Amino acid sequence: MVKILEGVYGIDHSADKNHSLESWILDCEKTILIDGGMTGEHVKGIGRELESIGKGWKDVDLILVTHKHPDHINNLPELVELTGAPIKAQKFEAPLIEVAQGVKVEGLEDHEVLPYCGGIEVIHVPGHSEGNSCFYLRNQKLIIAGDTIRADVPGVITPPPERYCLDVEEATREIRRLLDYDFDHLIYSHGVDTMEGAKKKVRELVKKTS
Ligand SMILES: [Zn+2]
Repeated sequence: MVKILEGVYGIDHSADKNHSLESWILDCEKTILIDGGMTGEHVKGIGRELESIGKGWKDVDLILVTHKHPDHINNLPELVELTGAPIKAQKFEAPLIEVAQGVKVEGLEDHEVLPYCGGIEVIHVPGHSEGNSCFYLRNQKLIIAGDTIRADVPGVITPPPERYCLDVEEATREIRRLLDYDFDHLIYSHGVDTMEGAKKKVRELVKKTS
């Protein structure tokens, strides 16, 4: 498992494939899984990574989901069975995930702050999907971008491609919502994370695409 920052771990689901995909584990006073991958192999990978930080499935207190696409939610029924943890996602996305996976998903408000790990704020960035969201960890100056931004080429950040978006123009335009936050680090479901100067990079992207 990749330690991204203190208490923030990345799980790389794509070790042997070209397509990159990550989930994350937050290890603070709670253990929080963010996104659940797509295949049974990914579930095994999450289990291995929990073990590597001395945790088991039952230690997972909460599952947060960035959005409804299959590579982020396909494993939710199995993950709920293994962990017994509640699932939460932005309130427009929650019912869509419930229908897709047959699991209970609690809705989160835009700007809602979950009182864990020093505060985890929901940033709703619509366009990639209805309730697509990022999660902001204020203590860490970190935004977990999910699919809101990608970095398929290291160092080059882009909006998500049109073929994966509900409304690519909205997805591109609304990236500017991230600029309301004080952050240095930006990590992606798909691509190579930006660990320094992330806000400047996002500002440049917003300027270039507006
Ligand atoms: Zn997606």
